[in-house]
Amino acid sequence: MFSDQLRCCVPGCTHSAARVSLPNCVEVMCEAHYALASPAAQARRARSEERLRVLQQRWNDPAYFDRLVADGKYLKMCGTLSLAAENAKRAWTDVKAEVLAATKSRRFTAKVSAAA
Ligand SMILES: [Zn+2]
Repeated sequence: MFSDQLRCCVPGCTHSAARVSLPNCVEVMCEAHYALASPAAQARRARSEERLRVLQQRWNDPAYFDRLVADGKYLKMCGTLSLAAENAKRAWTDVKAEVLAATKSRRFTAKVSAAA
């Protein structure tokens, strides 16, 4: 079912995770590492990705797309979509930065790679 399991993006981690939230995301993080991010950063990421997912879903709906073009809102939607993608990317970068910082301070990497 999860054909695209990817390696956790934290250096030294041997775990993998599925690209569950976004089919086109390039990086994933295992649950153990993701849990190291602050709840605020996790919530921000969840919100931004949900928004992006909803927008992309609409975008992929041919009826909606036709209506956009007919209403002359195509460019506006392009802008909205790229802004949402930008926000999602930034939220993910924040999560990753927090996790990497926490990993360094808690020596989580040593623990995880010892199991490999
Ligand atoms: Zn990991």
